[in-house]
Amino acid sequence: MPVKNELSAEERKQLVAAARAARGNAYAPYSKYPVGAAIRTSGGKVYAGANVENASYPVGLCAERVALFSAAAAGEREFRAVAVVTREGAPPCGACRQALAEFGLELEVIMADEKGWICQVSTLDTLLPSAFGGKEEENPHR
Ligand code: ZN
Repeated sequence: MPVKNELSAEERKQLVAAARAARGNAYAPYSKYPVGAAIRTSGGKVYAGANVENASYPVGLCAERVALFSAAAAGEREFRAVAVVTREGAPPCGACRQALAEFGLELEVIMADEKGWICQVSTLDTLLPSAFGGKEEENPHR
């Protein structure tokens, strides 16, 4: 499917490489399912994250939200793409899709497997149809 304003093949490779590297830092002793993510701002900066689990399971956080919140905490608000690396190239979970949607639905979502092969490229509005959001006037990103 066509993605508007998509990254170049090289930019995708770099973002996947950052997500793959972050996956190596995942703390996933319970699920044994390490995930890495890297989000690229519209200005070209990259913030990476890995899933961090906890003995109290719901306390842990997905890689995508670690990357997103790290970027947001650094003041970033505009994002162009996110890469997610899992064993088999799985898409982000619903909670992460919602978290990402806060900053715009045109985000390119790149899903790659543990070897770095890109399995799917999509957009957030495709992955999260009928997204929940605030009022138009309160959220200029929609
Ligand atoms: Zn998630």
